[in-house]
Amino acid sequence: METTINRLLSHLSTLTCSSCGTAYSAFEKQTVSPCCQMPLLAQYQPDEPLSKELLKQRPGTMWRYLEMLPVLHEENIVSLGEGYTPILTLSNLAKKHELKSLLLKDEGQNPTGSFKARGLSMAISKAKEHGVQGCIIPTAGNAGVAMAAYCAKAGMRATVVMPRHTPKAFKEECYWYGAEVVLVDGLINDCATKVKELNSAGELLDVSTLKEPYRLEGKKTMGYEIAEQLNWQLPDIILYPAGGGTGLIGIWKAFKEMQQLGWLEPTVKLPRMVAVQAANCQPLVETFYGRQASSQNYVGKPTIANGLAVPRPLGEPLMLQTLHESEGTAIPITESEMIAGLQELGANEGLFVAPEGAAVWMAARKLIATEFISPDEQILLLNTGSGQKYMENLSHVYSQY
Ligand SMILES: *Cc1c(COP(=O)(O)O)cnc(C)c1O
Ligand SMILES: [Zn+2]
Repeated sequence: METTINRLLSHLSTLTCSSCGTAYSAFEKQTVSPCCQMPLLAQYQPDEPLSKELLKQRPGTMWRYLEMLPVLHEENIVSLGEGYTPILTLSNLAKKHELKSLLLKDEGQNPTGSFKARGLSMAISKAKEHGVQGCIIPTAGNAGVAMAAYCAKAGMRATVVMPRHTPKAFKEECYWYGAEVVLVDGLINDCATKVKELNSAGELLDVSTLKEPYRLEGKKTMGYEIAEQLNWQLPDIILYPAGGGTGLIGIWKAFKEMQQLGWLEPTVKLPRMVAVQAANCQPLVETFYGRQASSQNYVGKPTIANGLAVPRPLGEPLMLQTLHESEGTAIPITESEMIAGLQELGANEGLFVAPEGAAVWMAARKLIATEFISPDEQILLLNTGSGQKYMENLSHVYSQY
């Protein structure tokens, strides 16, 4: 078989339905599960124990975990150097707030300025492996930019559908990567409707969050990196800005995989996972606290944290499962709190983060105040993007000076 010749070290075995567990071939192009129309999860079956010593000779990108990644042939990897971002110690803020250990993984240092690079590098690599000619995506901004860049690198057509109110920097960057940009009045769910209409013939691969199995595999590498960079220990708590939820679900998936591989000792306790949302669009918070059965009919408003304006995430059940299993929680942050967070991170730590990252820091402060987090615990913030592209959302703050 072609897949056994020249096969990379990937131990990809099957794809399983996240809802009912039915297994499907991992060696054909798949979207959502045919049984439940829900996300498919990649499973791996190493035929012999995998030693983490392997990592020592690997490049400083997310591709260093290639045994546990889905790309089968090396020539299909479409990379711009994504991943292996630094974990910074926020010593000034820790001192100011009397915290023992405050860390921030800075995903703003990825190609195209956000952690969306991980997911799209993986999805576009797999699309290339499956002979796909072009891709389409509904996006709040960063995912579209990343898809456009990786499609350019892969020589594929790219169509990006985003809300009209998205800051210009996101739209323009897509243009420079040669993508077609379509603007829609509304939020990402309205863009998804437009994608279906534009792609009714199914000519393009729809790489919407969790509607193909591999963006999740790219994002899970954050979990592997957190463990490796902290010398196979884990923080007590991880705060993540949840939109579609791929990062939250992916990091948790990585922890489970590393337990099975024996890369995490049984004595290493898994972190409590916190989903941080924008108060303007907090479907997961509402469901988590039982105020709605699911986000199916949730109506959200725009937020300066564009990536958090996801009113009806397909991955909601998986996000809730992560929060429950990890004994974590979900918390909303207002627009003005995000601005306060941006100012505090900027002025104290020299970090100009995305509003999503600022929300995460403010969530930590609130959870310390309510004693969900103890000041003695090790806290890891995920800053998912750089603030650069959001300037337009923040200009009203600056102009008040
Ligand atoms: C997309 C995005 C998020 C949300 O990520 P999900 O995987 O959809 O939960 C958070 N922050 C930034 C900067 C983003 O671009
Ligand atoms: Zn199913």
